[in-house]
Amino acid sequence: MKHECPHCHEKTFTPLQKALCGSMRGRGKPCPGCGRRCVNSMTSIYFSSATSGIALAVSVFVYLAMENKLYSSIIIAGSILGSFLLNFLFDMFFGKLVEPIRTMQ
Ligand SMILES: [Zn+2]
Repeated sequence: MKHECPHCHEKTFTPLQKALCGSMRGRGKPCPGCGRRCVNSMTSIYFSSATSGIALAVSVFVYLAMENKLYSSIIIAGSILGSFLLNFLFDMFFGKLVEPIRTMQ
């Protein structure tokens, strides 16, 4: 399962390469076929804001609700790590690649 490059429309990106392209905030990665830069679309940014919002809500809730600070810090670290992992998996398998808004230089 490969992802299509928005420039040459060839399926040149593996899921891992696509995830490493980053979001539209970054510069992106060059396509292995045509060498032009690609980034993950806005959907990726929406998804990561949602997951980090949930991770934050969980962290606040756990911090306030749990007596045991060791367990609560483990759960907080886990939820933050989990949101990063979810974003990475989302970029690997969902969403589309698009042209970056920033130009090459
Ligand atoms: Zn290409």
